[in-house]
Amino acid sequence: MIVLLESGEWLSRRPYHRQRLAWIMLSQRAFAIEASEAGFEVVYLRGDAPMVDLLRTLHDAPALVGMEPAEREMRAEFAPMVEEGRLRFSPHDGFLTTAADLARGETSEGWRMDRFYQGVRKRTGILMEHGKPIGGKYSFDADNRKRWDGSPPAPTPPTFAGSLLREEVVQEIESRFSDHPGVLDIDTIPASRAEIDRFWSWAKKSCLPSFGPYEDAMSRKSRGVFHTRISALVNLHRLLPRQVVDEVAALQLPITSKEGFIRQVLGWREFVYQVHRATDGFRKDCAEGEEPVPLVGDAGYRRWAGKAWVPKAPAPAGIDGGARPNRLRAEAPLPVTWWGVPSGLACLDHVVGDVWLEGWSHHITRLMVLSNLATLMGVSPRELCDWFWIGYIDAWDWVVEPNVLAMGTYGFDRMTTKPYVSGSAYLEKMGDSCPSCRFTPGKDCPIGPLYWAFLARNDAVLGDNPRMKLPMASARARADDQRAADQRAFVALRDLLIQGKPYVGAQSSQQELFPAPVRRKR
Ligand SMILES: Cc1cc2nc3c(=O)[nH]c(=O)nc-3n(C[C@H](O)[C@H](O)[C@H](O)COP(=O)(O)OP(=O)(O)OC[C@H]3O[C@@H](n4cnc5c(N)ncnc54)[C@H](O)[C@@H]3O)c2cc1C
Repeated sequence: MIVLLESGEWLSRRPYHRQRLAWIMLSQRAFAIEASEAGFEVVYLRGDAPMVDLLRTLHDAPALVGMEPAEREMRAEFAPMVEEGRLRFSPHDGFLTTAADLARGETSEGWRMDRFYQGVRKRTGILMEHGKPIGGKYSFDADNRKRWDGSPPAPTPPTFAGSLLREEVVQEIESRFSDHPGVLDIDTIPASRAEIDRFWSWAKKSCLPSFGPYEDAMSRKSRGVFHTRISALVNLHRLLPRQVVDEVAALQLPITSKEGFIRQVLGWREFVYQVHRATDGFRKDCAEGEEPVPLVGDAGYRRWAGKAWVPKAPAPAGIDGGARPNRLRAEAPLPVTWWGVPSGLACLDHVVGDVWLEGWSHHITRLMVLSNLATLMGVSPRELCDWFWIGYIDAWDWVVEPNVLAMGTYGFDRMTTKPYVSGSAYLEKMGDSCPSCRFTPGKDCPIGPLYWAFLARNDAVLGDNPRMKLPMASARARADDQRAADQRAFVALRDLLIQGKPYVGAQSSQQELFPAPVRRKR
């Protein structure tokens, strides 16, 4: 017997994007049909109550066995049933690595992805030949930094129209979950086995050959560029990482693309899962003030919507708002810009628009636009993390927390070596939003002053970081009046965006805030 749970409380615990709800409901229902057609007895329990309460209604069931959830939040919810002996967890077999792999990736300064990844490559033999990495090195990251100007053309993802199941899910979201934000487009979701195979074949054939070189490119001409968009499928375990890695390793592909892609799945994805598990979701040994928030966060929904978010039922015991590592002591609320109120900065407004349209954007937009700008504005890592969790179809605590609390914001500093921050030069080089923006990088674009103000105010934490030497030296060399202007620009921009006002820049008072050009101290 297979038991599946669909809880209204869980689906509405946060004001999740409608597209995310559709992915979960459609995928699970499609799986139920498959399992039933394969001859399993399927018990599908639905209701507004929390999952744990739904499961408890199975009074006469024999001892239940489940895979240990990857999500810490889910482990916490079911912990009482495990303690009572009514539920037993077996190890999760959907990941390719173990805690021992993570231990091999640890140094005195924390966990290092490159070390972890090399260890996993050696242990598994993936992309290895005679004990050496294929292509002569473990990472081709440095070769994969091309800007994309529209050629070769980016592929269009397949769509999947018309089924009763799809209609049922759409109707249910529109009736039961109509207060959730975001655009619902059910036809983009591969649900049945045949649809998933078609989607994955598209990714292998149409995305992967150019994946590596354009991995870091951002473009208005294509939301996905050559990214595969498989994250929601693999995180829901409808597509297994073992299949993904084995099939890509066997493809005829340039090594830059093959290694670049395998590093994402066998490296980054496994690494963040193992770190999240090892740190118990960043709760172990957390500093004072970084303990879990008592209540589930709304990422500023209330400020944006003007009303509190109300889930279908109260969260069960053991559920809280997650840990809040905050190395840079960033405490600003997330500006309503992230909920779709225009900021006046084209790069930011475009990506935010994409997220509310699709529930997805690719890695570099997440890192170098959404996280970078929030970090430069001093936004609380926890609040930003909750926003990603709410807005993305592929977000689950084990993956969104390491990516946002550590990689995106440097709130947790033991799994990355430096904050991923940049001024406008990077955005101009790797993206194509600047020509459609009213501001010009290096002249009146406020992202430059924001960057310098970030470095100045975090000098005490970042000053000795060997990987930040150059930018810190440049920040220290700025003239006093320039530093004061940077700080004013930072405060003014942050506060305008928090109030939901766009930065227009033409007003004289705002012009004063962003004077150009930059003068250096002699
Ligand atoms: C701030 C921030 C938040 C993120 N939040 C999430 C999240 O909630 N869920 C999520 O799955 N990924 C997250 N990522 C990682 C990455 O951005 C997405 O996995 C990727 O963009 C998904 O699109 P794709 O399937 O086209 O990926 P591709 O670029 O095609 O990469 C292939 C696969 O590699 C894996 N992968 C790549 N990078 C990572 C990573 N850093 N962590 C985990 N897996 C990775 C994913 O499974 C992805 O599907 C986040 C990254 C950042 C910087």
